Amino acid sequence: MISIGEARARILCHCSPLDSEAKHPLEALGQVLDEDLCAEFDIPPLANSAMDGYAVRAAATAGARLDDAVVLRVIGEVAAGYVFDGVVGDGEAVRIMTGAPVPAGADAVVPFEDTDESLWQARPKSRKAAGFVLVDVFRAVCPGANVRLAGEDVRSGETVVRRGTVLRPPEVGVIASLGRAILRVIRRPVVAILSTGDELLEPGQPRFGSRIYDSNAWGIAAMVTRFGGIPRLMGIAQDNVEALTAAIHDSLDADLLVTSAGVSRGDFDVVKDVLAREGQIDFCSVAMKPGKPLAFGYFEKDGRRVPHIGLPGNPVSSMVAFELFGRPAILKMMGKTDFRRPVIRAICEDRISNCGDPRVFFARCTVTERDGRAYARLTGAQGSGMLTSMIQANALAVVPADVDVVEPGDEVNVLMLDWSRGEDWGSYASDSCL
Ligand code: AMP
Ligand code: MG
Repeated sequence: MISIGEARARILCHCSPLDSEAKHPLEALGQVLDEDLCAEFDIPPLANSAMDGYAVRAAATAGARLDDAVVLRVIGEVAAGYVFDGVVGDGEAVRIMTGAPVPAGADAVVPFEDTDESLWQARPKSRKAAGFVLVDVFRAVCPGANVRLAGEDVRSGETVVRRGTVLRPPEVGVIASLGRAILRVIRRPVVAILSTGDELLEPGQPRFGSRIYDSNAWGIAAMVTRFGGIPRLMGIAQDNVEALTAAIHDSLDADLLVTSAGVSRGDFDVVKDVLAREGQIDFCSVAMKPGKPLAFGYFEKDGRRVPHIGLPGNPVSSMVAFELFGRPAILKMMGKTDFRRPVIRAICEDRISNCGDPRVFFARCTVTERDGRAYARLTGAQGSGMLTSMIQANALAVVPADVDVVEPGDEVNVLMLDWSRGEDWGSYASDSCL
C-alpha cells in the first residue's frame, strides 16, 4: 500500500503533455496555448474617445463654468469606425462618439453631459446668423481628458498571451482582439473507459435477476468531460482474462485507459492479472478510503505507452479515486501544471471516525457557509456503494491517517469539488491543496 502522494507522483510520471492541434479559440476554451501570441498592431490602433462628446483643444475650454460657458464652433462629426479629415482649431469642436479616433488638432474630449448645443438650436436666428452650429461648454478639460491612447492596451510586437496559458473567456476575448481566428493548443486526451463485471448491464437494457446497471462508465465519462478530456466508452468486459484482454487491446488507441472493478482480491478480479501479463504493473493499492484497491500500470502499443488506471468497482470509490488520480493525469496531458483543487478549513458538524485505519479517509460532505465560516456536514452513511451520496456532496472532508476521530466542532480540511452551490466562496479560496 503506497501513499496518495506517491501514487499520484508515479501516475504523473507516465503522463506527458500531448501534441498540439490547430483550433478556433472558441473551441479551445480550457485548453493550453502551444504558441506565443504576439500583437501585430497597437490596440487601440489610434487615439480615440472614451466618451460621447466633443473633441476639442483643452486650452480652448479654459475657464468654462456652469454659469460662464465657453462657446465653441462645431465643425463636424465623427463616429466609431470613421476618421475626421479636418483639423480642430482653437475655438472649434467636433462631435465625437465613443471609440471614434480623436481628430488632428484636438487633445481632449468634453462629454455631452458638460455641454449644450440645444441653447443655440433654440435660437435659430443667431445660429443662422453665425452660419455654424455652436455649443456651450460648461466645464474645462485637461489635455488627454477622456482620450484613450493608441497602444494603451496592447503595443505592437508585444507577446500578449504566452505559450502554456490556459484559455479562459478573457484570453479568448483578447485573442479575438488580436485578430486571430486559429491557434495551436495542446489537444485533449482521449480516455478509453472500460467496465468489467459479469453482473453489469448497459443502461437502457432490460434488467433481470441480480444484474445491475453500469454506473461507473457514465460517471467516469462525465468526469473526464468535466476535466477536459474526451471520453470513449468501450462497453463492458466479462470477468475473464480472455474477454478483458481483447477489450483492453481494443482500447489502446486512446491516450489513457481507465477500467473499473476487478482489482480487489475476489476470485474473478482479473484486471491486475491482465495488466501484469500484457503490460507493466506499477502499484495496486493506495492508502486511502474509499478507493484502496487501485491498480496502475501501462500497456504498450505501436511504440506508445498507454497508462492504465484500474479503478475500484464500488461506484463511490471509483469516483473518488478518479478525482484524486484521473483528474491530474488528464490535466497534465492537456499541458496544465496546476492540478490543485481548493482546500479550505471547515468546522465539522458530525463525528467522523477513522479509528484504527492507517488510510486517509475522504468523507463525503456538504459544505455550506454561515456567518462567514464554512461548515461541513456528512452526507450520511459513507458506504462506498452508495452513489446517491455523491449527489449531495460538494466536498470531501480529509481525515488524515493518524487522526482517529474528528468530533463535531473540530476543524477539518475539506477538498472542494464544486464551489457552485449558490454561495460566494471567494473568501475561502486558499493556496493549500492536496
Ligand atoms: P469488484 O471490484 O469487481 O469486486 O466490484 C466491487 C463492487 O462494485 C461490486 O458490488 C460490483 O457489483 C460493483 N461494480 C463494479 N463495477 C461496477 C459498475 N461499472 N457500475 C456499478 N457498480 C459496479
Ligand atoms: Mg467484479
